[in-house]
Amino acid sequence: MTATAEVMDYAEVVERYDPVLGLEVHVELNTNTKMFCGCPNRFGGDPNTHVCPTCLGMPGSLPVVNGKAVESAIRIGLALNCEIAEWCRFARKNYFYPDMPKNFQTSQYDEPIAFNGHLDVMLDDGEVVRVEIERAHMEEDTGKSLHVGGATGRIHGAEHSLLDYNRAGVPLIEIVTKPIVGMGERAPEVARAYVTALRDLLRAMDVSDVRMDQGSLRCDANVSLMPKGTSEFGTRTETKNVNSLRSVERAVRYEMTRQAAVLASGGTVTQETRHFQESDGSTSPGRTKETAEDYRYFPEPDLVPIAPSREWVEELRATIPEMPWERRKRIQAEWNLTDEELRDLVNTGAADLVSATVDAGADPGEARSWWVQYLTQQANTREVELADLPITPVQVARVIELVKAGELTNKLAREVVQGVLAGEGEPDDVVEKRGLKVVSDDSALLAAVDEALAAQPDIADKIRGGKVQAAGAIVGAVMKATKGQADAKRVRELILERVGA
Ligand SMILES: [Zn+2]
Repeated sequence: MTATAEVMDYAEVVERYDPVLGLEVHVELNTNTKMFCGCPNRFGGDPNTHVCPTCLGMPGSLPVVNGKAVESAIRIGLALNCEIAEWCRFARKNYFYPDMPKNFQTSQYDEPIAFNGHLDVMLDDGEVVRVEIERAHMEEDTGKSLHVGGATGRIHGAEHSLLDYNRAGVPLIEIVTKPIVGMGERAPEVARAYVTALRDLLRAMDVSDVRMDQGSLRCDANVSLMPKGTSEFGTRTETKNVNSLRSVERAVRYEMTRQAAVLASGGTVTQETRHFQESDGSTSPGRTKETAEDYRYFPEPDLVPIAPSREWVEELRATIPEMPWERRKRIQAEWNLTDEELRDLVNTGAADLVSATVDAGADPGEARSWWVQYLTQQANTREVELADLPITPVQVARVIELVKAGELTNKLAREVVQGVLAGEGEPDDVVEKRGLKVVSDDSALLAAVDEALAAQPDIADKIRGGKVQAAGAIVGAVMKATKGQADAKRVRELILERVGA
């Protein structure tokens, strides 16, 4: 069901209205176990295999807080320049939803663990915008509903629904911004840049795998408009679970153009949640937005309050790694990049990946070339973010090392990377399984050289007669015979040696 609402031309929107943004990002933590039980916290798995009485909400089961999740929550709060609560509680957020078996979500309400922070965000042209953070609180994820038989995968039109509770109880941190105002036409870009910066930060801290495509990082975008010259916020909509960086930007932009058309025609914007349509970049109405009172929040009676000692908070502060933007400034100096080169690295999402590859031992030039060229092409072909390619900086560094050691040619190295991307394991496994090692054994190469010379005696004579450039044909034949797994330079040397040229 795609709503084809009226939209206003974007230039006119920003001429007549000021957008107000509010971004809510949900991050699934990468702890070993769930938030309140010992079930494995792993993506996927057969439906309903990572479950127990606690995360299924069975009568009599009791939750226990995951200490590691609290630690990650505090670290995230610190990295976002937040204050950390000296004492806080969990609360029950009551509502019925089939994928939430307890009929309430254990969350935090008026006592979040972290609050009042900010994140500095760099836009495409290098301008830095400060986004104020309202709060970061702990909660648990819900299960997943699968609606079967409809055209859209939504419940509307479905014949029946299936439920998978593997995700129920997975630790979540919800990070909420204060209203972001004054961004004008750049509001959609600011939204994307903020989620990008947050993703890079969380990845650098190793608290989540931040895969938007798998839902471990999800963004809800609140958008409203105020007529120019006024300062009272308009009615907002909340576009849910936008699942790529580009979609965040598109969703905000679309909502601005849709709401402007509603307001300009004398209508009122309905406060509601909306769904983003990846196909045409539009949003369609979801449910009418509840207010906090509807959820009947009350303190969770089954969990003790959390009172992190100041000593512990300071210990955790010391574990916060270099922020991605600090690292960028450092690599710019170290690798001698212009502002523009750095921005290209950042805009393709490659800066942190290159940096991590260098940290894993690779040469900066090689690391840059792999990520900015070959792997960016691969990401474009697959239509995923560079960082979401299923290859890690450590694996790229290993491929670079194998090339440097002469064990792979550049061509073979690309094949190894293909293997890693195809899920065939570590680079060394791919080399082994696909038999991709460079033939560096001279006796094997010599046999191929002799065979090629014997097959083309006239060329062998030419080389012998001093026409060294004729060796190219023999090199080609040897490369073909070894399926490209020989070092061409070495083959050439062997040919010249053999004919005594
Ligand atoms: Zn469980």
